[in-house]
Amino acid sequence: MRIVVIGAGIVGAACARRLTLDGHDVTVLDRAGTASGTSAAGEGNLLVSDKGPGAELVLAQYAARVWRRLAVELQDELDGNTPPIEFEPKGGIVVALTDVGAQALRAFAAGQREAGVDARELTPDEARDREPWLNPAARVAVHYPEDAQVQPVGATEALLASARRRGARLLQGTEVREAALDDGGALVGVRTTRGDLAADRVVLAAGPWSAEVAGRLGIHLPVLPRRGMVLVTSRMPHRVFHKVYDGDYVGAVASDAADLQTSSVVESTAAGTVLIGSSRQRIGFDERLQTRVLQEMAAKALRIFPFLAAQPVMRAYGGFRPYMPDHLPVIGADHRLPGLWHAVGHEGAGIGLSVATAELIADQLAGRRSRIDVAPYALTRASLQPHLTEQVA
Ligand SMILES: Cc1cc2nc3c(=O)[nH]c(=O)nc-3n(C[C@H](O)[C@H](O)[C@H](O)COP(=O)(O)OP(=O)(O)OC[C@H]3O[C@@H](n4cnc5c(N)ncnc54)[C@H](O)[C@@H]3O)c2cc1C
Repeated sequence: MRIVVIGAGIVGAACARRLTLDGHDVTVLDRAGTASGTSAAGEGNLLVSDKGPGAELVLAQYAARVWRRLAVELQDELDGNTPPIEFEPKGGIVVALTDVGAQALRAFAAGQREAGVDARELTPDEARDREPWLNPAARVAVHYPEDAQVQPVGATEALLASARRRGARLLQGTEVREAALDDGGALVGVRTTRGDLAADRVVLAAGPWSAEVAGRLGIHLPVLPRRGMVLVTSRMPHRVFHKVYDGDYVGAVASDAADLQTSSVVESTAAGTVLIGSSRQRIGFDERLQTRVLQEMAAKALRIFPFLAAQPVMRAYGGFRPYMPDHLPVIGADHRLPGLWHAVGHEGAGIGLSVATAELIADQLAGRRSRIDVAPYALTRASLQPHLTEQVA
């Protein structure tokens, strides 16, 4: 099939690569450049630890397996000109610094274990052994060996390079304007700023702009931007060895609140910087830097790693997570517009979930049974219906 993928972020890149493996004729287009949206504006956590039992966790567990395989495949097939993806299966450690937090964290980890997550409570000695600079006042620490990390821009570029090696075309600076429809109203391509592109299937992967692009295609899709900020320290010798975050993060991730939520996620990068994330706010596409947000994040990071107080912050950046009102991505066909497929709404987990999303899209397009049940991610799921209105054009 001729497949047009809208968006050259990590989700579009992963879909493009996977679809070329099935022999499809793939064109990826982006109104700007590759990895120019949210995929360049976050961290690279590939987490199972922050997800409670349910459909998102199942997708993350599947993605964790795909990433391990893919990291090897990409390394084998790409040359030295492609940036490294910096895949590090370093594991995560979640800590609780209060008695109430400790109780909540233990209960959360117990539920995850029942869902097949490897979640091991550490003794204080074990925690100190793994993270010597951790605040000794931490009440409970749970180790998640399945958590990993990747450099999101490098990973996006590598996935695109792999897709292009298999014949995919990449059109940068090409913006989707509207749908090309046949007489029966089915989508048969897109009209762009650089001409029309015919397609048998169109995969929408435009991240937080997916609602806008869907609107141009005549479809309502309730994807909203959820602002997030990250602080970056200057380079230092490695003193943070896992992804370490406080248990509050899980609450912030699952919350629907529009107002500011912060929690502390701390990790070192291969370059020697430490990333301190993150915040969550629904303030539209407002890009202004808010110092109170950065202050709150920094203060929480210091509670986990007091040594950070002496480290200079080099910069701060932020982006917009593609937020769905029921906290699950949409992966599959749009029954309202034949020919249109969605790979959207991964919110704060799109780097991790991208590769599993690509598998599910490819399976469904091929009529193959997927390794996990695809129904929870369908546009037709019950939890999404109150948020969908009918076709707008
Ligand atoms: C602060 C922060 C921290 C995060 N941390 C993590 C993390 O640790 N782990 C994790 O898994 N996820 C994380 N995320 C979330 C993750 O970054 C996103 O879920 C993911 O990047 C979404 O990828 P995408 O490809 O769907 O969207 P994007 O990367 O935004 O790509 C969409 C593309 O569509 C293009 N586009 C838009 N409109 C059009 C149009 N009309 N025509 C053509 N092209 C168009 C854009 O230019 C863009 O390049 C974080 C996000 C933030 C903001």
